[in-house]
Amino acid sequence: FDAMPTIGDIVRYHARRCPDAVAMSFEGRETSWAALDAGSDRVASALAAAGCKAGDRVAFVGKGTDEVFELMFGVAKIGAVLVPVQWRLAFDEVQQILDDAQVTSLFVGSDQFDKLDRLRRVVPRTGQLITMESRDGWTDYRRWRDAASAGVVANRVDPAAVALQLYTSGTTGHPKGAMLSHRNLLSGRREGMRARMDWNEWLEGDVNLVALPVGHIGGIGWAIVGFFNGARSIIQREFIPSQVLDAIEHQGVSRLFVVPTALQMLLLQPRVRQIDYSGLRHILYGASPIALDLLREATEVFGCGFCQQYGMTETCGTIVYLPPQDHDPAGNARMRAAGIPMPGVEIRIVDAETREPLPNGQVGEVETRSVANMVGYWNNSYATAHTVSADGWLRTGDAGYLDDDGYLYIHDRFKDMIVSGAENIYPAEVENAIYGHPAVQEVAVIGVPDGKWGEAVKAIVVPRPGMSPDPQDIIAFARTRIAAFKAPKSIEFVKELPRGPSGKILRRVLREPYWAGRERRVN
Ligand code: ATP
Ligand code: MG
Repeated sequence: FDAMPTIGDIVRYHARRCPDAVAMSFEGRETSWAALDAGSDRVASALAAAGCKAGDRVAFVGKGTDEVFELMFGVAKIGAVLVPVQWRLAFDEVQQILDDAQVTSLFVGSDQFDKLDRLRRVVPRTGQLITMESRDGWTDYRRWRDAASAGVVANRVDPAAVALQLYTSGTTGHPKGAMLSHRNLLSGRREGMRARMDWNEWLEGDVNLVALPVGHIGGIGWAIVGFFNGARSIIQREFIPSQVLDAIEHQGVSRLFVVPTALQMLLLQPRVRQIDYSGLRHILYGASPIALDLLREATEVFGCGFCQQYGMTETCGTIVYLPPQDHDPAGNARMRAAGIPMPGVEIRIVDAETREPLPNGQVGEVETRSVANMVGYWNNSYATAHTVSADGWLRTGDAGYLDDDGYLYIHDRFKDMIVSGAENIYPAEVENAIYGHPAVQEVAVIGVPDGKWGEAVKAIVVPRPGMSPDPQDIIAFARTRIAAFKAPKSIEFVKELPRGPSGKILRRVLREPYWAGRERRVN
C-alpha cells in the first residue's frame, strides 16, 4: 500500500499489477485499469494544455458516471484540486460553492444541462466549461480529452497537497469547503488495512457498489476506498433502490455503503426478501443516526455482515466503526453504539463549554485527532480556528460519550439538542422510539418554543402509505419506550421531510416556521 501515496498512484499501481482487470463498469461499459490509467493521463494532459496548474480548483457537478472517476484521477495526477458538487443542490447553492472555490475548470453532467447557460456565467471568462456528454454548442468531454496529446504525466504530486475540496452536507448551515490532502484520504486507509479487520479487508474478486453522490464523502470517499483496494467498481448514476438490488443480484456486488435512508428505501422494495444475498459480504452504513428497528430488520433481511461508520467530511469519512460482531440482534446493547476508533484515530469527549476532557460515561462533545483530519476549511479561517485546535483536535459538533470498553455512543448534534426544563433531549433518541410505531414511515423531532419549558418536543411524522395514525397513540407509544419527559408533546403529519443533498433530514428547515423572529439558543 505504500506504493500509493497519492490518488493518481492508485490507478498507476493497479494498472501495473493487473492491466486487463476491470476497474469499473457503468451501464454495461467496462474500463480496465490500463484504460483508466491511460484515460486519466489524457485528462491530465488536457488540463495542463488548458493552463490548469497544481492547486487549481476543478469542479464537477452532476450524477455519477465512470468518466467522473477518470476525471478524478486525471485531476489528481497534475496535483489540481477536485471540487465535486452535489447534483441535488439548487442553482444558487451550486453557484455559491463555485464562487467560493474560485474554480477555473467546470465539468457538467448531462443531468445539469438545464443550468448550462447560467453556469457559464459563473466560470471566469479565462476558464473552461466542459459537458460530460455531447451537446450542441458546447465542448464535450471526450473530444476535449482526446484532443490532448497522449503521454505520461511526469509531475510529482506532493502527498501533503490538497486533493479534494469537499463541501460539507449543509445540514446545520451553509456547506463549508473541507480541504482534504492525498495523505488525509489515504493514510488512514493504510492503517486500517494493516490492522486486518475482517470487515475492512477486500478480497480478490470483491465488487464495490458506488451509487451515492460523488459530492458527498459517503460517495467519493467510499469510491476511493474501493479503487485503492483494487476492487471492481459498479458505478451507478444515483441511488435507485431497484437498480441497487439488480446490481447485487446480477453483477456480484459484494460490498456497499449506504446511508440509513437508502437502507430503508431498499427494505421498502417489494422483492427485497426474494433475492439471494449469498454474494453480499458487507453492508456498511452511516452518515446519520440509524433507528434500531431499521437496523434490526436490515440485518435479518440481508443476512450479511453489517458495519456502522461514523465520521464526517472533515475526517475523510469513517473514524469510528461498529464491527459486524456487535450487530447481534439478540439484545446486544452495543448495537446502539457508533463503535470503536479506527486504528490511529483518537477520540475524546470534552465539556462543550470548558473544553475539558470528561470521564467515561459523561456526555459531551466528541473530538477527534488523526492523520485523516482535514487541512482546514477553504477560505474560512474563522471556521477552521473554531473547529481545529492548535494541537490537532477537531470538534465534531456531535454529542456523545465513551463507555469503559472504548465504545463511542453518539446522541446527536449539539445544534439539534432540545433543552426542555432543565433536561437535555436528543432528537435521535426520540425518533428512534417513535420509528418503531407500525403506522410511522419516517419521523423527525425538533424543539419548538414553549412558554413554560423553554422548548417542547415536537415530532413531525410521515405516516405509512394508507395509514392515518392517531397522534395520541404515537405519543403513548413513545412513552412506553423512553422517559415521559422525552416523549413528544405534539405531533404534526406531513407527506415528506425536507432533506439535504446527502439525504439527511434538515431539522433546521422544520424548526424555521416555529422560531420565526425568535432567538433560539445555540450550543
Ligand atoms: P454540515 O457540517 O454542513 O452541517 P453535515 O455535518 O451533515 O453538514 P457531513 O460531513 O456529511 O456534513 O456529516 C457529518 C455528520 O454526520 C457528523 O458530524 C454526524 O453528525 C453525522 N454522522 C455521521 N455518521 C454518523 C453515524 N454513524 N451516526 C450518527 N451520526 C452520524
Ligand atoms: Mg458537519
